[in-house]
Amino acid sequence: MSPVRRRQTPTVRIGPVPVGSDHPIVVQSMTNTDTADAAATAEQVRLLAEAGSEIVRITVNTRAAAERVPEIASRLRDAGEGDVPLIGDFHFNGHVLLREYPECADELAKYRINPGNVGSGQRHDENFATMIRVAIDHGKPVRIGVNWGSLDQELLTQRMDENSHRSEPHAARDVMLDTMVESALRSAERAEEIGLAHDHIVLSVKMSGVQDVIDAYERLATATDLPLHVGLTEAGLGARAVVTTTAALSVLLQRGIGDTVRASLTPSPGGDRAEEVRLCRYVLQALGFRHFAPQVAACPGCGRTTSTLFQSMAEEIQGWLEERMPEWKSRYPGVEELRVAVMGCIVNGPGESKHAHVGISLPGTGEAPKAPVFVDGEKRTTLQGPEIVHDFLALLDEYVEARYGGALSGVHED
Ligand code: SF4
Repeated sequence: MSPVRRRQTPTVRIGPVPVGSDHPIVVQSMTNTDTADAAATAEQVRLLAEAGSEIVRITVNTRAAAERVPEIASRLRDAGEGDVPLIGDFHFNGHVLLREYPECADELAKYRINPGNVGSGQRHDENFATMIRVAIDHGKPVRIGVNWGSLDQELLTQRMDENSHRSEPHAARDVMLDTMVESALRSAERAEEIGLAHDHIVLSVKMSGVQDVIDAYERLATATDLPLHVGLTEAGLGARAVVTTTAALSVLLQRGIGDTVRASLTPSPGGDRAEEVRLCRYVLQALGFRHFAPQVAACPGCGRTTSTLFQSMAEEIQGWLEERMPEWKSRYPGVEELRVAVMGCIVNGPGESKHAHVGISLPGTGEAPKAPVFVDGEKRTTLQGPEIVHDFLALLDEYVEARYGGALSGVHED
């Protein structure tokens, strides 16, 4: 159940994945390989899906890329990842590629169309209509994705001009935010006039400033009932990108806005593209919207701990849980909600451990070399000696089997 009241929207089906309404908020990501390289792209899609991306977007920017989309899909089916919906990202020439490559149009589960990048004037309208007609013919939904870096300049100039003639002009920022929202809404309206069903449209209005993106989505959310894909565009690198993305997503999701999410992180050269997937999952889990993996609460350590045992133990337990998850997920339904605590001393150790399903309070400086273990709030045993980690993991294993394997079904319902 969602921790906050979400916007009520139509359900848009992206392949087998339902988006919007009360369906779980969907994690998506995007490849950074050359789509014309089918092997590399399929492999990256596989890695992203394996990390938890429920939808993966690929650039379709050239004829070679469009031609290889069926091969990418076929490679994914061969690799056992045929269920992950592929979204085609189209700019400038999408109307040509979608028309010329019907197999590509058919294989993709959704088309992302940027109304700022489909030509100008009458050509804009024709190109946009062409893509919408292909979507209708192939029964595909579209995301109308407005980005401030490619906002329809004609519309923006027109609105800025009108604003300058007001007796009391609005701030330029407000005009730009309103124009982004207007661009998305007008495009959606046009798509429906052409014949695309209302429940085949998702909208987004991405920007790179946290306050801007929050404002833009709030305006959009009050103006439409369509599902929204949310995220910060061009979030950047490293910890700053993680923080800004988390800040923007958290505020929006907490206000009930957002049906699919993406973290547009720039990986370091050779870095792990799946980092953006993990970040989305962490945010959704931290806010209580989804549960993907057991959580380990560990204290930061302080002057009361003389060894790094509890740090390495927390790391070892986290790694062990991650390793087990692929198997546990199918064997033990609900195991992703497991909470484990690994604490460094008696100050907060027993208390925090009692709040977890299974918790251990390691001895701090001056304490007896013993580690009480708490299970469902009750002290279960005390561990000591060199096998403490091994013993704790064995106890965790037993607990998971008992709680989620049905042997003690009904014992700890919460
Ligand atoms: S639980 Fe103990 S060791 Fe951990 S931060 Fe608190 S006081 Fe320090």
